[in-house]
Amino acid sequence: MLTTTATEIAEITGGRLVGGATGDERVTGSARIDSRAVEPGDLFAAFVGERADGHDYLATAATAGAALSLVSREVDHPAVLVEDVEAALSALAHAQLERARSERDDLVVLAVTGSAGKTGTKDLLGALLATAGPTVAPAGSHNNELGLPLTVLGIDDSTRFLVLEMGARGIGHIAHLTAIARPDISLVLNVGSAHLGEFGSVEAIAQAKGEIVEALAPAGRAVLNAEDPRVAAMASRSQAPVVTWGLAGGDVQGRDLRLDEGAHAAFELVVPAGLTTVTGDPVEAGTRDAVLGLVGEHQAMNALAATTAALLAGARLDDVVAALATARAVSGQRMETIELPDGITLVNDAYNANPDSMRLALRTLAHLGRGRRTIAVLGEMLELGEDTIRLHDEVGRLAVRLNVGKLIVVGEGARAIHNGACLEGSFDGESEHVGTIDEALAVLETTMRPGDVILLKSSRDAGVRDLGPRLVELS
Ligand code: ATP
Ligand code: MG
Repeated sequence: MLTTTATEIAEITGGRLVGGATGDERVTGSARIDSRAVEPGDLFAAFVGERADGHDYLATAATAGAALSLVSREVDHPAVLVEDVEAALSALAHAQLERARSERDDLVVLAVTGSAGKTGTKDLLGALLATAGPTVAPAGSHNNELGLPLTVLGIDDSTRFLVLEMGARGIGHIAHLTAIARPDISLVLNVGSAHLGEFGSVEAIAQAKGEIVEALAPAGRAVLNAEDPRVAAMASRSQAPVVTWGLAGGDVQGRDLRLDEGAHAAFELVVPAGLTTVTGDPVEAGTRDAVLGLVGEHQAMNALAATTAALLAGARLDDVVAALATARAVSGQRMETIELPDGITLVNDAYNANPDSMRLALRTLAHLGRGRRTIAVLGEMLELGEDTIRLHDEVGRLAVRLNVGKLIVVGEGARAIHNGACLEGSFDGESEHVGTIDEALAVLETTMRPGDVILLKSSRDAGVRDLGPRLVELS
């Protein structure tokens, strides 16, 4: 956080000083909602959750060095009392960001949305921007009305780039987030069927994601996927210049995409002449060979998106290309590949799943598995609404068409994957439906052979992710 006193926090949040606070308490660190994460100088925000009440942890936070707390009832530790802690954090985040902007003109706020790949792209963008200056882009998927303000409050006097992930479960959600932190550069990756259940239609999803572009001032930049028609169409909603990217078209291009043996994408990056950064400097044009440290074809799209945004924010072309090569997946998130004994490769992508990411993961598996047998352990894709059976069925059929050697479908909600695979034909006995992770492990133990490539994929709640560590333990 930028250094702020209790008096200032009370003014910004419309709260009042309680618990013996004098008003002179100085918050110099971050804002935390977990008392165990508090460090000296932090602001501790007491939330009332389903299981725990943050107000019970004020003493722990104080011992850890919290300078002040934000509370919603009277307490006997120095605090600012507000009606709604979440709204207060949002107001504080907004005020801090506007203050940082007024104090200097080189702070660039970048916001990422899309149906799939937000966190991965945010991480990559953070790595690219770090080559150009102090960057705040914390690990994880803090993309909602609570995570976003906490991320914003992570800026300090040195921050040059702030990268925010913005998620939406309905119309107006992203508009709420951009009102807290107005972006200078807005990036939209794709519009797919993630959270279709809550939205009702893909058109509604496009409407909601496009709010990120509507929030741009004329001096900003909209960074849009040239190859997703629903994203490209958002250009008409932007007051700011639009810069597109794509593999076959767009302003910034990744031509001649190929995957090496380890499924790292490589392409020829072409940056056209005539682009300018948000601070008005020319972007260096040129052509470079880009090789990614990340695994999977979809990373080429994410890398192009992140590259375009990083260049428009002021990062240098050669630095960006170098950082693309060294960036690695954050453990336990996307397409983590682990080499097990006996030449077995494990691809753990069970952090999260939707129809688009399932397709990509299966295609990457097929690529990695050329000349090797492939095994896919798939769980349920959550939150798909009334299309859920059809979408699961299609995944099973695709697995068959991609010649997946063995399919293990886990859990009742995923059964339609198994059914689809069986109906696609010529797949007898190669798909098995099991009820639990333990059963899946038992099937794997009896079928796994040296040289296999195994994919684990499902929504995080479905538990398939835990199979990864257990397989590592076994071997
Ligand atoms: P959430 O809405 O849960 O925050 P997210 O948009 O942040 O999701 P990630 O966590 O980055 O998405 O990735 C989710 C899944 O989507 C991963 O399985 C990943 O492999 C896949 N994925 C990543 N990039 C893309 C892409 N460009 N298109 C489709 N799928 C992708
Ligand atoms: Mg995310």
